[in-house]
Amino acid sequence: MQSARADIGVIGGSGFYSFLEDVTEVTVMTPYGSPSDSVFVGELAGRRVAFLPRHGRGHHLPPHRINYRANLWALRSLGVRQVLAPCAVGGLQPQYGPGTLVVPDQLVDRTKARAQSFFDGEMLPDGRVPNVVHTSFADPYCPTGRAVAVAVARGKGWEPVVDGGTMVVIEGPRFSTRAESRWHAAQGWSVVGMTGHPEAVLARELELCYTSMALVTDLDAGAESGEGVSHDEVMRVFGENVGRLREVLFAAVTALPETKERNCLCADAHKGWDLGIELP
Ligand SMILES: [Zn+2]
Repeated sequence: MQSARADIGVIGGSGFYSFLEDVTEVTVMTPYGSPSDSVFVGELAGRRVAFLPRHGRGHHLPPHRINYRANLWALRSLGVRQVLAPCAVGGLQPQYGPGTLVVPDQLVDRTKARAQSFFDGEMLPDGRVPNVVHTSFADPYCPTGRAVAVAVARGKGWEPVVDGGTMVVIEGPRFSTRAESRWHAAQGWSVVGMTGHPEAVLARELELCYTSMALVTDLDAGAESGEGVSHDEVMRVFGENVGRLREVLFAAVTALPETKERNCLCADAHKGWDLGIELP
């Protein structure tokens, strides 16, 4: 199974890997069930990369039905230690219009009904029960991954690229009301999405580096005066940007450090702790 190993994971749609040569499709089962889809493992400029379509092939899984735990567990079990996570978001501030790339450094969780920990007392199929673990999450994103993402996007001429900011994650699948959106904006938060959490915390629990790359596809309801956000508009703008986002992603893959050279907080998130379970 050597060919199915990878160092870097990309959680995103088929537009990111479909033209790579020598992609191996791998079916992974996890103690938490099945991931969104098969994992597609290939090589990019000498780096082993695993692609996982977050919503499944054909985009059939809505954000609140994604098995985030299975997705992150599956990537780690293939060897992945660094994750790049592109996603579509709404801009909460007028200056963050469609086409803006935000690399957030903070998040606010407003999801309601998602499993957001591997350490929740459930017995795993091997009979082990995880210990009570409180993961440090003050800085939810990998500082190294963030710096790489910002640098390569700017190097490719992306305009504008926002270094930092807060992503608020809502439960969905509906978009925000105007009142919710105005409230989010009034807090000074930057963008709103539906998938950035619990993805980020589950990555941290598995000691994975996680970097969000949030493409603004629309201005959220409170930040514009029209009809509000529509799904068609989101998909159209994402489609228009998928080519250059892929270029930035691939450049980021080659610029990330080797796994053994990670020296960020993510790699040692649980250093010295007895987790009660073995991470894959
Ligand atoms: Zn890291």
